[in-house]
Amino acid sequence: MLHGHSRVADIKDAINIMFDDLIDQKLPAQILSTLVRKGNAPHALLFSGIEGVGKKKAALTFAMAANCESNKEPCGVCRSCKKIKSAIHPDIIEIKPSGKVIKIAQIRELIHVLSRKPYEALKRVIIIHDADAINTEAGNALLKVLEEPPDKTFFILITTQNGHVLPTIASRCQQIKFNPVSKKTIISHLVDKLGVPEEKALIIAQMADGNLPEAERMADLESGNHTNWLSLRDIIISGLDILNGQSTGQLLSFANRLFKKKDQVSTFLAIMKTCFRDIIIFKYAPEKIIFRDLSEKIACMSKTLTIDSMLQRIEAIYMAERAIQSNANLRLTLEVLMIRMSRV
Ligand SMILES: [Zn+2]
Repeated sequence: MLHGHSRVADIKDAINIMFDDLIDQKLPAQILSTLVRKGNAPHALLFSGIEGVGKKKAALTFAMAANCESNKEPCGVCRSCKKIKSAIHPDIIEIKPSGKVIKIAQIRELIHVLSRKPYEALKRVIIIHDADAINTEAGNALLKVLEEPPDKTFFILITTQNGHVLPTIASRCQQIKFNPVSKKTIISHLVDKLGVPEEKALIIAQMADGNLPEAERMADLESGNHTNWLSLRDIIISGLDILNGQSTGQLLSFANRLFKKKDQVSTFLAIMKTCFRDIIIFKYAPEKIIFRDLSEKIACMSKTLTIDSMLQRIEAIYMAERAIQSNANLRLTLEVLMIRMSRV
């Protein structure tokens, strides 16, 4: 009996660990676990929230919970849970955009699969990533399935851009909102688990904007394997001085330096935006700037640069980000950006 008791306790611990894995997502975790436990989950759920808050993990946990062989909550160790964890379960189907959009061909293929019985699952779970990328044609096809869902099948749609999901689709789903991870949690995670010094953790947490994996990535850059993130930031910020000069050659060569580190361009742009925002904020609330360790430099820039010109630079960065997202030539985009920012 005693042995039996302790096994139940073990399983409960495992459950708690799994839901605790959804950091700072108490409400979504609670809703999901209740839906599974009561066995009355709606057939379509829509998970929304910024990148890096555990939406995919929650979807997989839900799939495990719905299929767990030992309990209605995920044990994490039974055959079904293990298969889902290693992404080899034939009835847990993930759909991602092919290129920029989710196309009708993908939904047709899904419908074909759904017309057959599940291979082994109690509940089949269809996870649709970037649900905002479902185009109208594909959306109409999917809508029919959502209106007359096949037996024993759950749909989980995931999006970072809730407003862009087709309203006809969204209205068929129960929405579950995921929160940005709090700065406090990110800081303690960085300090306690990764040993990042508190002062640096503070800056990283501000920059990461509620995205925990992004914060970890930035902290990892800190660890020395890669270029040190803070020194990278300092290089960018001192480079920004040339924006105030007039030399086109210097501007283009700065753009070229950024271009050479292609995979870090989004970080560079984020650093610049934060810097310009800090310059504005310093004018009326100097204690609220993000790059507090650079307050002298920010103060100096804040004296000579106007709010209007900083807003124009930030707008220029947004334009560049949009261009990059739609696959514009990266080098040219960066060159244009530098020239635009120098002319405000
Ligand atoms: Zn299990």
